[in-house]
Amino acid sequence: MTPATAHGAAVPAVRTVLGDIAPEDLGVCNAHDHLFLRSPRLPGQELDDAGAAAAELGAFRAAGGAAVIQWTPYGMGRVAAELPGLARESGVRIVAATGLHQAVHYAPEVLERVRADLAGLFVAELTVGIGGTGPRAGMIKVAGGFHGLDRHARYTMAAAAEAQRATGAAIGVHLELGTGALDVLDLLCGELAVPPDRVILGHLNRAPDLVVHRAAAGAGAYLAFDGPSRAHHATDWRLPEALAALAGAGFADRILLGGDTTTADARSVNGGPGMPHLLSRHRKRLELALGADLVTQFLTANPARAFAAPWARTPHAGQTSPPGRATDAPATT
Ligand SMILES: [Zn+2]
Repeated sequence: MTPATAHGAAVPAVRTVLGDIAPEDLGVCNAHDHLFLRSPRLPGQELDDAGAAAAELGAFRAAGGAAVIQWTPYGMGRVAAELPGLARESGVRIVAATGLHQAVHYAPEVLERVRADLAGLFVAELTVGIGGTGPRAGMIKVAGGFHGLDRHARYTMAAAAEAQRATGAAIGVHLELGTGALDVLDLLCGELAVPPDRVILGHLNRAPDLVVHRAAAGAGAYLAFDGPSRAHHATDWRLPEALAALAGAGFADRILLGGDTTTADARSVNGGPGMPHLLSRHRKRLELALGADLVTQFLTANPARAFAAPWARTPHAGQTSPPGRATDAPATT
């Protein structure tokens, strides 16, 4: 249950697959990663093995990790039913996502099925449960395009904004190759009036344009820097410099760090960097550039604030029942 004040107003909580927790209980957090993922764009590299997910979580826990935010959205093989058991057995807190990725990650009939009430789907997954019986999602994941936003991205973000208004959940955005951050903020926070501190921009390490980073942080959004990855090796080494610039400009409280393991080969249990790399190597490298206190802030206080939401009880953006009196919307698979 979400904690409530004496006046009945919900206080912020992080919605994990085992229930809502106080933000300060989140602990050392991998703010963007995947235990399960399936896409036609990554044939043969599916993350679909619960045993491998458990091993990777165990390795992350052994490296000092306490929480993982899985950014896998609707229809991409989240295997939501496995997440509570994995969280319980590993002792790692897990937050699941609702939302929708770029159209290229779906068969057309899947998009057709959810198109009529996308916001309703997101709200149901956040407030009732994934698939109606699974754990509740704790964030909304959407995606931009390369230096722009196509019709699918605009439609998806409009639905995300509606679900954000109804629930308070944070919106995490996949930026294609790290681009389009300001286009996303113009749409989400300009046209769609989402509070900037409810937006988490992902993959900015892939486009180390320090001016754009500073503009996005100045607008009030969170910036999630993830990786490293084989595909983005060309820019990964710029990360310490980018984070130092942001911190120096007064935006240390906007920075999140994640691993973003998207393929089986990238897992530590298969010889890749995987989730533990974030803490065993990446953290130490960043501490050399920024000092331990700042990096600890990126891994604990910042994600606790970014992913906490008041979890308003309004069940559906399209309904007008007063908070606390409305009934939950039915779950959609
Ligand atoms: Zn990701």
